Amino acid sequence: MRKIAILGTTGSIGTQTLSIVREKKDLDVVSMSCGSNIDLFEEQIREFNPKLVSCGNDDKALELKKRISDLDVEVLSGMDGLIAVATIPEAEIVVTAIVGMLGIRPTVAAINEGKDIALANKETLVTAGHIIMPLSKEKNISILPVDSEHSAIFQSLQGNEDNNIHKILLTASGGPFRGFSKEQLEKVTLEDALKHPNWEMGKKITIDSATMVNKGLEVMEAKWLFGVDLDRIEVVVHPQSILHSAVEYDDGAVVGQLGLPDMRLPIQYALYYPKRLPMSGDYLDLFKVKDMTFEKPDLDVFVGLKYAYEAQREGGNMPTIFNAANEKAVALFLNKKISFTDIYRLIDNSMKEIEHINNPTLDEILYTESEVYKYLDNY
Ligand code: MG
Repeated sequence: MRKIAILGTTGSIGTQTLSIVREKKDLDVVSMSCGSNIDLFEEQIREFNPKLVSCGNDDKALELKKRISDLDVEVLSGMDGLIAVATIPEAEIVVTAIVGMLGIRPTVAAINEGKDIALANKETLVTAGHIIMPLSKEKNISILPVDSEHSAIFQSLQGNEDNNIHKILLTASGGPFRGFSKEQLEKVTLEDALKHPNWEMGKKITIDSATMVNKGLEVMEAKWLFGVDLDRIEVVVHPQSILHSAVEYDDGAVVGQLGLPDMRLPIQYALYYPKRLPMSGDYLDLFKVKDMTFEKPDLDVFVGLKYAYEAQREGGNMPTIFNAANEKAVALFLNKKISFTDIYRLIDNSMKEIEHINNPTLDEILYTESEVYKYLDNY
C-alpha cells in the first residue's frame, strides 16, 4: 500500500484523487484536510479512514470532532493542522489540491520531511518557485505535476531528460470568451464567466480560465518545473482541449500528450509515476475528433496573460503581487463587487503600487500577499 496525504479533499482535484483511491485499492490515505465543507469531509473520513484530518478553522474542527466522535481520528485546524497533515510520518507522497497561497507553507514543510509532492497547487511555484525548486533538489524529492498541461509536458519529456527543450507549447482552451473584443469583455457577467466549455473545475479556477490569468500562472509554473526561459514558453489557444500541451525539441520534433479532458489521468500518472495503469471511462477516439485548431492568444484583450509574463520577467515578489491581486479580485468579482475586466485593472494597479522585493523569503512572500490584500481592501 502506498500511503498518501491529501491537502484539500473536498474540492475538484481532491474528490477526483479520492475516486482514484477508491478504484485502485492499493493507495492508503493517512491524512487529509478540507476548508469548510465538513458534510462531504465527514463522508470521506468514514470511507477512507485517515489517522489525522484538519479543517480550515477551529469552529469547523470542533463541529467535525463531535460528528466523528465514534471514530479514532485526530482532528486539527488552521495552518498548524495543514502542516501536520502534510508532514505525517507515514505518507510518502502529498497531493497538494488546495487553492491559493495557503499551500506554500505545508508544501515546504512536506519537502523538508522528504516527501514527494503531487502538485496541484500552482500558487506554490508561482510565488515561491525560487525556494521550492532548489529545496526539492537538496532533499532529493520529486515534484510531480498534476495540472493537466504540466502533466502533458512532463509526459512529453520522458526519455528526453538529456535533450534540450527548444520550446514548450502550453495549450489553453481560450475559455468562454475566446474571440471577444475588449468592448465585449467589459460587459460579461459572472454567470457567463462561470461557464467553461471543456473542463469542470472549482469557481476560482473557472474565472481564472475565463480571464486567462490561469494560463499566466501556468506559464510561471512551467518555467519553474521545467527550468526553461520564459521566451521558450509559448501559449497556444486550442479550443478543443485534446492536445494537453507539447514539447518541441531542437530537431523540430514536437512531442505532445493527447486525451479526453479528464483530470483523473494527470492525477493517476502523478500517483503511480512512472507506471501507466488502466483508466475507467472513455478513451480518446480520434475518429470522433473533427477539428483540432490552434491560434495565438490575443494579449490586447486578455491582458492578464500579458501581465503574467511581465510579472515573471520582473521576478522577485512580482509574481506574488500578480497572484495575490488576482485572488482578491476574483473573490470581489464572485461577490459581484467589481466587473470582469476590473480583475485586470486591480492586478495592474497592484503591480504598480506594491513595494518590490528581490529574492523574497517565505515571510516576505506572505507579507507581500497581506500588503496586496490591504491595498485592495477598499474595493
Ligand atoms: Mg491547467
